[in-house]
Amino acid sequence: MKYIDEFNDPDLARRLLDEIHATVTRPWALMEVCGGQTHSIIRHGVDQLLPEQVELIHGPGCPVCVTPLDVIDKALEIAARPEVIFCSFGDMLRVPGTDRDLFRVKGEGGDVRVVYSPLDALDLARKNPDRQVVFFAIGFETTAPANAMAVHQARRLGLGNFTLLVSHVRVPPAIEAIMRAPQCRVQAFLAAGHVCSVMGTAEYPELADRHRVPVVVTGFEPLDILEGIRRAVRQLERGEHRVENAYPRAVREQGNPAALSMLEEVFEVTDRNWRGIGPIPASGWRLSETYRDYDAEHRFDVTGIRTEEPAVCRAGEVLQGLIKPTECEAFGRACTPRTPLGATMVSSEGACAAYYLYRRMTDGPAPRGSRIPREELNTVG
Ligand code: SF4
Repeated sequence: MKYIDEFNDPDLARRLLDEIHATVTRPWALMEVCGGQTHSIIRHGVDQLLPEQVELIHGPGCPVCVTPLDVIDKALEIAARPEVIFCSFGDMLRVPGTDRDLFRVKGEGGDVRVVYSPLDALDLARKNPDRQVVFFAIGFETTAPANAMAVHQARRLGLGNFTLLVSHVRVPPAIEAIMRAPQCRVQAFLAAGHVCSVMGTAEYPELADRHRVPVVVTGFEPLDILEGIRRAVRQLERGEHRVENAYPRAVREQGNPAALSMLEEVFEVTDRNWRGIGPIPASGWRLSETYRDYDAEHRFDVTGIRTEEPAVCRAGEVLQGLIKPTECEAFGRACTPRTPLGATMVSSEGACAAYYLYRRMTDGPAPRGSRIPREELNTVG
């Protein structure tokens, strides 16, 4: 608990806030990339303590939220097969597909299991040689190395009944796409510290230069976020656009070499569709040719999927920072964590869930129905 206490220290927070207030002379719009940072900001009211001129725009860094609908529908179809044990982190079970979710598939007899690591799924494959075990491998650069390691192990052990349904995404191409969007208002980024702890910071200087935008690698506790904001605002006021590491206790410039080499071994870069945002070139990973036998899309015939998003859901605009969740008509009414219309209301990193959990009584409509305990907003990992 020592570290948590230190990074919530109110005196230090006040000092950082004083410095931010003293530095700011005009309006600035900063995007925090990661949904974990969004939750921390909303939970601790960080945005409400900032000078009026500093706006925080919530970014697309919620892995559950950006997993495309066609991949969710493929997961539902695979999970419903009698020979399959379908394994996933908890958040994915409530993410709505076109006409159902994984909970519904489980209720209808599908063997859907919540696991805490891809290695749990690998273990299930070893213990159930007569079943096909599929792990739903979604997420950013943070979760990809463990998934790569699981499939690497499966190959080493000669497990022929283990596959991954892969929908990994990468942060730098998303930043590029955000900056290229005509409606973009972002002037600085708080980059996701955990992503950089894996990947390092080498991908960011070129982005910062090309778009003349400060990128500050930032952690997740309130003081981490205030320090990231302080550095970003200081650069903006000085007219600078550098990459700064404000999370040195976890991030090194070169990243994690072991994780990087596992990613290199197992995955290859591919174009990826982001739910609510659309296709982004080179923004994802898929299994490389060497590991194609471990690709669930290759193993199971899941072509011909027809998807349909609920018309009312504005998650795409939320994910691009174009609207706040409370500007969606369905927020807290038709859409709650118990009756989610979009993935951003399901995930523990989704912006809609953050506003529902911490702000719905002040910023948005009071929900109809009972209060949802925090623990029901499950964690994807
Ligand atoms: S509140 Fe619900 S319906 Fe509205 S954008 Fe968020 S997830 Fe979609």
